[in-house]
Amino acid sequence: MAFQYVRKIDDPEEIRQAMPLPRDLARLKEERDRDIQAVFTRKSDLFLLIIGPCSAHDEKAVCDYITRLARVQEAVRDKILIIPRIYTNKPRTDGMGYKGLVHQPDPQQAPNIAEGIRAIRRLHLRALAESGLTAADEMLYPQNYPYLEDLLSYVAVGARSVENQAHRLTCSGLDVPVGMKNPTSGDLEVTLNSIQAAQAAHVFSYNGWEVKTSGNPLAHAVLRGAVDHYKTAVPNYHYEDLNAFARAYQKRGLANPTIIVDTNHANSNKKFAEQPRIAKEVLHSRKHSHLIKDMVRGLMIESFIEEGAQPPPGTVYGKSITDPCLGWKDSEKLIKDLAAML
Ligand code: PEP
Ligand code: MN
Repeated sequence: MAFQYVRKIDDPEEIRQAMPLPRDLARLKEERDRDIQAVFTRKSDLFLLIIGPCSAHDEKAVCDYITRLARVQEAVRDKILIIPRIYTNKPRTDGMGYKGLVHQPDPQQAPNIAEGIRAIRRLHLRALAESGLTAADEMLYPQNYPYLEDLLSYVAVGARSVENQAHRLTCSGLDVPVGMKNPTSGDLEVTLNSIQAAQAAHVFSYNGWEVKTSGNPLAHAVLRGAVDHYKTAVPNYHYEDLNAFARAYQKRGLANPTIIVDTNHANSNKKFAEQPRIAKEVLHSRKHSHLIKDMVRGLMIESFIEEGAQPPPGTVYGKSITDPCLGWKDSEKLIKDLAAML
């Protein structure tokens, strides 16, 4: 057998007991979850910003960044609800390269997933304690969700996972919003199928158990642009794209039909500095269509302390080691500009 069993990873219950969520922070999460969910159920007109680095590779820099976000959140609280991105596991297009804090708790060192699991929980706990903001993370490995289930307020299923049944069924058991990205091909039917699957009740096998879920009415769409056969980026954030998708989404009769627009990835063609223009265009489109305004309830933005990106392991503090990000000054200005437009 070609598998080598390197080391045993602690069970979620063991890890959660060893690194518990303090009671006051659990209460804070309940409040945040209520506020966030109200956006999807139309009880609140706050606009969501899911914003932060492409990958969270350095605990100190991520907590520094999120503490800054928390200060801006206070300034824009009447208009915007900020969910920091703390993405601890990264999908890779060809399987190569940095796979996230969960694989490499220290990007300078060899992979150590047993330690990585602790590192991602430690990071989410610290960021929450220091900022008061519960975060978003990507579900790349559905079996790992229980390690963070009491901490996350938002979960994204990435462009490379959104067609996968294990992801869809796992999401049907979550009680927080799950954003289904469009696949890299741009086929929006895949996204709608994924939302439909996650909103339905299922019976399936999960982490050694036969489980039953009740369906997640907060599963929704995230548009991240596509890449065509010639590797050209094809954006899907323009007015016509949003209008056509909103109509197709409406026809499916799904619960809480909601669109989040990702301003980076294939929408910006990873030209991170285009994000403010794209974000503002989306807000402008909302002003021209009731349907778009009702459905587009947030943006996803890649932002960190230093702008751009550096190759892993990365020596520059607060700079992404995966996709290039908007820097702090421009990010702060963007959030305030968006609040003024809303
Ligand atoms: C991301 O959000 O950093 C990401 C990897 O997104 P996508 O799945 O859309 O490529
Ligand atoms: Mn990214």
